[in-house]
Amino acid sequence: NKNRANDYVHGVYELVKKRNPDEKEFLQAIREIFDSLRPIFSKHPEFITNGILERITEPERIITFRVAWEDDQGKVHVNRGFRVQFNSDLGPYKGGIRFHPSVNSSIMKFLAFEQIFKNALTGQPIGAGKGGSDFDPKGKSEREIMRFTQSFVTELSKYIGPDVDVPAGDIGVGKREIGYMFGQYNRLKGGYEAGVFTGKDPNHGGSLGRKEATGYGTVYFVDEMLKGEGKSFEGVTVVVSGSGNVSTYAMEKAIQLGAKVVACSDSGGYIYDENGIDIEMVKQLKEYDNKRIWEYTKAYPHAKYHENCSDIWSIPCDIALPCATQNELDEIAAHLLIANGVKAIGEGANMPCTQEAMTLFHENGVLFAPGKAANAGGVAVSAMEMSQNSMRLSWTVEEVDEKLQHVMKNIYSSCLSAAESFGHPGNLVIGANIAGFLKVANAMVAHGI
Ligand code: GLU
Repeated sequence: NKNRANDYVHGVYELVKKRNPDEKEFLQAIREIFDSLRPIFSKHPEFITNGILERITEPERIITFRVAWEDDQGKVHVNRGFRVQFNSDLGPYKGGIRFHPSVNSSIMKFLAFEQIFKNALTGQPIGAGKGGSDFDPKGKSEREIMRFTQSFVTELSKYIGPDVDVPAGDIGVGKREIGYMFGQYNRLKGGYEAGVFTGKDPNHGGSLGRKEATGYGTVYFVDEMLKGEGKSFEGVTVVVSGSGNVSTYAMEKAIQLGAKVVACSDSGGYIYDENGIDIEMVKQLKEYDNKRIWEYTKAYPHAKYHENCSDIWSIPCDIALPCATQNELDEIAAHLLIANGVKAIGEGANMPCTQEAMTLFHENGVLFAPGKAANAGGVAVSAMEMSQNSMRLSWTVEEVDEKLQHVMKNIYSSCLSAAESFGHPGNLVIGANIAGFLKVANAMVAHGI
């Protein structure tokens, strides 16, 4: 049985590799999941006979489209738009939209693939998707962003809907862009379909607590993990990469729980403030004024700015929260963190740690909260936004936060018990992969081939 299971996993991996030879990030995400799933198939031969792995690794649909737009000088530009509709066995496709020059088919597919397991872990009725464009919002005017976004959604609108596919934000897409998308979508449809996007402004249809949800959720998850070891955020030193939505609210919650956050970053570099980062200043700079993080040192001259953002991991800390982007924390960074005595890692971003870094943390007994579990709070509150939109009412921020805490605790305990029952007690990476997979795989069996 064990051999048959191993042969099956190996065979499907080879197939996926052959079909997607150049998709580095996608194959990395597949491999990480497959490594965890081996123990499942000897207990569940029905997943083999139903071809679950072959099916779960091939997106139901990938839409690629041209996005033409005009800049403020009247020059025409063309970008490429994507929407990967990966899996709809648990609900409408759900996942963010990323505007970043690195966006390509591999990155879209890895993100949509991760979303399958993440969304399943939340326990909410949401399938998985991801979209985006290689458009670079950096340096663009407000009107250019509006025109680009409207052009993007003019094409995307044909493929989405409140019961079909519900996009939200991701890197480069916040409530402003979601607002433009929502406006354009409704114009095209000639109606008001509140539940077609999440991450809307709370003043018109968005959920309170959505913008804080991913960062807060990551800290709630890590807090559960620390509690399991009799530890907490109280009095510990934390380093958080990034200074966007996820990072900002991860810092805020860590500080509220008694931690001292000493560093954060953007793509230009990182700041180090030994007195502890002033989170209101970071919000002012990044969330409201759209400035670069080095400007923090204008207000706090004692703080230091370093131009290489990946060097942030050389700062000694007890807890590291990578909240910027994929593969931002590699083997070299992991060695440094371990040498400096790091005790726990919580992934706020999607796949921020390379496979080599994860192996090192595992071998050195560093507690590890994998992104698909730890950063699920964002999409969980998105699903709550869908519920509120359907009911045409809105919950208070306290209600949302209480539900979010509940979801994060549940995810933590389902990861723990899956890890335990498949022979890897305490391993949250394996636990998250197995718990998420079982939920989707069972639905796929039930829905037929
Ligand atoms: N982009 C976020 C993620 O990676 C949120 C997706 C959503 O809210 O739909 O999970």
